[in-house]
Amino acid sequence: MADRKRLTTSAGAPVGDNQNSLSVGPRGPLLLEDLQLIEKNAQFNRERIPERVVHAKGAGAYGYLEITADVTRYTKARLFSEIGKRTEAFLRFSTVAGERGSIDAARDPRGFAIKLYTEDGNYDIVGNNTPIFFIRDGIKFPDFIRTQKRDPQTNLKNPTAMWDFWSLSPESLHQVTILFSDRGTPRSHRYMNGYSSHAYSWINSEGERFWVKYHFKTKQGIKNFTREEAIKVGGDDPDHATRDLYEAIARGDFPRWRACVQIMPMKDAENYHVNPFDLTKVWPHGDYPLVEFGELVLDRNPENYFQDVEQAAFEPSNIVPGIGFSPDKMLQARLFAYPDTHRYRLGANYATLPVNSPHATESQNYHRDGFMRFDGNGGPSVNYEPNSFGGPFEDSSVKEEAYNFEIDGMAARYNHREGNDDYTQVGNLFRLLTPDHQERLIDNLADSMQTVPHEIQVRQIRHFARADRRYGEGVARALGIDPSEIAEIAETEGAEAAPTA
Ligand code: NDP
Repeated sequence: MADRKRLTTSAGAPVGDNQNSLSVGPRGPLLLEDLQLIEKNAQFNRERIPERVVHAKGAGAYGYLEITADVTRYTKARLFSEIGKRTEAFLRFSTVAGERGSIDAARDPRGFAIKLYTEDGNYDIVGNNTPIFFIRDGIKFPDFIRTQKRDPQTNLKNPTAMWDFWSLSPESLHQVTILFSDRGTPRSHRYMNGYSSHAYSWINSEGERFWVKYHFKTKQGIKNFTREEAIKVGGDDPDHATRDLYEAIARGDFPRWRACVQIMPMKDAENYHVNPFDLTKVWPHGDYPLVEFGELVLDRNPENYFQDVEQAAFEPSNIVPGIGFSPDKMLQARLFAYPDTHRYRLGANYATLPVNSPHATESQNYHRDGFMRFDGNGGPSVNYEPNSFGGPFEDSSVKEEAYNFEIDGMAARYNHREGNDDYTQVGNLFRLLTPDHQERLIDNLADSMQTVPHEIQVRQIRHFARADRRYGEGVARALGIDPSEIAEIAETEGAEAAPTA
């Protein structure tokens, strides 16, 4: 008893009775002056913070990125400066559409968000387990996500909304194909790859720029559930992937990924046959092979889930000298959206929370005040700039290097669907799947589309068929639709050509 800590109120005063509320007589009523009763309940009532609009269900862990190859001729970022160098990392994995308590086994892309605590500040690579995405312009993001969330009337997931949107947005076809393949239901977070998906830039010490895409290849091997397995696991253990990650790290079986990058010289981007900044396209490995530069390892579970995982705030806008953005329209929209949503969800001082603040350096700026400021708030130091009192000042050696390339063009709302080939890479993917994997893909699609109105089914099947005739015909047959109907409808609508292989 002697060495047990004394229970106190938030103000530090000792609590004499934490079992019985203060009442008039043994049967009540209660007295308003029972401040212990009121403080406990008032605090409890405020425990939940808004969940993330997307990626609400997640699991996270600490670890490191170790550099294993010399890439200094491409980037001067100090985290890559020497072989053997380790940078502390925090990773969060997530599903996208479900709520905070939703099942880990859902068919959904998985978030794969990395925070690297470098000596030049935090570098966040906020990607997914897919190399591409459903849309290529951030102006469509709220529309797309609504189709993945709950119906405004029934509060149920609505396959009609999903397939209506996808069938009217052919740029989604590539990601839809990955989503309904086996990779849409990874066995757990350890058994999947991560991708930056976007192109970023690497800038070397001569100021030369290269476009890059990151690939983190699981060393545990790709392992997926079939649809039937995912349904069973989701029922048996809704948190199976959260559990798997925690338990693997706790027993010392640390998950590892090969850290690789595709590198495209800037000049290539001008004439490459696909827009390298289109988030619905990959850069084929034949043209831009993977260059391995490191190993990503997770070796420490957080001590407290809420503090580290729920309060983690990743933002693609966190870059360091030697790294830059790209013109990718989705990336550009995300540069705004992430810090904006964190300010709403966590408050203006979210960046000072332990998991979000730089670990390997100090942030020094003139931000002051705001809700929940508890980092000293700059103390008595000067709070404006320029000043004559020793406050932090800018470092011109890193001045706008992230933006120093030429861009020209007319300001306009360019139609991102015009002249865009949404089918070739999808066909390539379909054809690299084994016949039994193709069958499972088609079966998963038919299962999802079965309740959707006929005209939407047909509109979507025409997209599958344009990627590969066998793909379209397979889905049509699985839904009991005569493949010839796809061509007939195309003709009567006159909108698009009949499917060809
Ligand atoms: P490659 O044969 O060199 O690469 C094929 C890629 O497909 C591999 O990275 C493989 O991943 C991945 N893959 C295999 N099955 C699936 C699946 N069900 N879902 C998602 N990815 C899968 O060919 P290319 O580089 O020319 O690309 C051909 C097609 O492969 C592309 O059109 C694209 O759809 C897909 N792809 C390409 C990627 C790229 O960055 N080039 C990345 C991922 C997919 P792994 O090696 O890990 O098994």
